[in-house]
Amino acid sequence: MKTFDAIVIGTGQSGPSMAVALARSGKRVAVIEAKHFGGSCVNDGCRPTKTLIASARAVHLAGRGADFGFQTGSLEVNWSVVHRRVREIIERGTAGVEHWLRSTSGIEVFCAFGRFLGKHEGLYLVEAGAEQLAAAQVFINTGTRPLVPDVVGIETVPWLDSQRLLRLEQRPEHLIVLGGSYIGMEMGQAFRRLGSRVSIVHAPATLVNREDDDMKQELHRIFAREAIDVYTQSTIVKAEPCGSGIRVFVRHHDGSERILEGSHWLCAVGRVPNSDQLNLQAVGIETDARGFIGVNEFLETSASGVFALGDVNGKGAFTHTSYQDFEIVRDNLLFGRGRKWTDRITSYALFTDPPLGRVGMTETEARASGKQVLMAVKPMSKIGRAVEEAQTDGLIKLLVDAETHTFLGAAVLGIYGDEVIQSIAYFMATGSRYEVMQETLPIHPTVAEFLPTILGELRPL
Ligand SMILES: Cc1cc2nc3c(=O)[nH]c(=O)nc-3n(C[C@H](O)[C@H](O)[C@H](O)COP(=O)(O)OP(=O)(O)OC[C@H]3O[C@@H](n4cnc5c(N)ncnc54)[C@H](O)[C@@H]3O)c2cc1C
Repeated sequence: MKTFDAIVIGTGQSGPSMAVALARSGKRVAVIEAKHFGGSCVNDGCRPTKTLIASARAVHLAGRGADFGFQTGSLEVNWSVVHRRVREIIERGTAGVEHWLRSTSGIEVFCAFGRFLGKHEGLYLVEAGAEQLAAAQVFINTGTRPLVPDVVGIETVPWLDSQRLLRLEQRPEHLIVLGGSYIGMEMGQAFRRLGSRVSIVHAPATLVNREDDDMKQELHRIFAREAIDVYTQSTIVKAEPCGSGIRVFVRHHDGSERILEGSHWLCAVGRVPNSDQLNLQAVGIETDARGFIGVNEFLETSASGVFALGDVNGKGAFTHTSYQDFEIVRDNLLFGRGRKWTDRITSYALFTDPPLGRVGMTETEARASGKQVLMAVKPMSKIGRAVEEAQTDGLIKLLVDAETHTFLGAAVLGIYGDEVIQSIAYFMATGSRYEVMQETLPIHPTVAEFLPTILGELRPL
């Protein structure tokens, strides 16, 4: 048995930083990774998908050459280059994380599956392949994996998750996507722009169900214009091989059925936490009904000295929430800070083109909050920079508490929306009244320069 001060299980977006911070503070740390260093963000999530989306956007803009004053002739996508860009980002990212861990003094890396064995003399015992490790502290950063949908015949066809999708050596002719939420929409639009036919099958009545109606309507309009077939209130009930592709049977909510035949099928219907094989019961760690590891506001589990960070705790589903989990635990353990995950304001982006940046409450949530709410909405067609860039899809929505004059939330669907929202998120963190933003000097011409102007149009909900 090897004894350490701490064991980190999983190398997602918090585990590696936690291990390095602990090692730099003089602790001996074991890091266990079962598959690819860096987890989803590096290997099948944020970075490779945004690389693919960048290629897709470049193709799309080139296709609009006439709007900007140039001709390209017919556009040919060189899939091997697109694929190579994605592969290189993955390889660089995962190698970088592995090198960082292996080259940090005080860390020992185990390429193995980690699971709890129990507790002995105050130390947690963790199996890492053939090795037995022991430590007083354990940090779980095991993330999530794609949910396999309950579809008859799914085992007979080579369906794709995002990991396999990003490794395709040939561009799909016709990509069927089950699930029109964040991953399904981002990948659906990107593959369409890269030349695939795309059909999205989605159970709720609208894409990205949790966003406000006006945002969803605009996204539906954009997808329709780009000839992405969207089947809402529909699900795939059966799949079977069909030549070199896949045939799926789609059932609509009214009971009617249609058959789609595609070259590839992406399932993007949600993710499940990687907690079920950790043998958590051996050390008395509790999960909720969906398998997310229960934590308090300090990210401590029900077992003293064991922390759950990142997606596996169900308190966030993003790289930035996972990384912030690390910062919270580091600051509390090493610097005695008392930071809580419950203090954070939700923020994220849907990286369609244009992107939707979101922070705090949606309009729907604000209406349900019982607060007095002021709201202002501005179409991107009224924003100078969007007009100059000839990209006027989308709208900006700002929500303010009528009593405190602080922001409740915002949504920016439009060019640079993912960046513009960040300025509102930083502002919200200060707790300032919105009038402070109105008196800040904005840079012209930018999209963000209109935020003070839009605030001048706030009206009660
Ligand atoms: C297609 C896609 C696109 C995304 N796009 C974005 C985006 O644009 N922005 C954003 O913020 N987020 C995005 N995400 C989400 C983001 O990738 C995750 O939220 C982020 O990676 C945080 O994950 P994590 O730190 O919880 O762990 P993960 O990244 O899931 O890593 C967990 C690691 O633990 C390992 N592991 C699991 N069990 C064990 C075990 N028992 N023993 C040893 N190792 C184990 C796994 O192999 C993995 O390496 C995207 C996700 C996907 C799938």
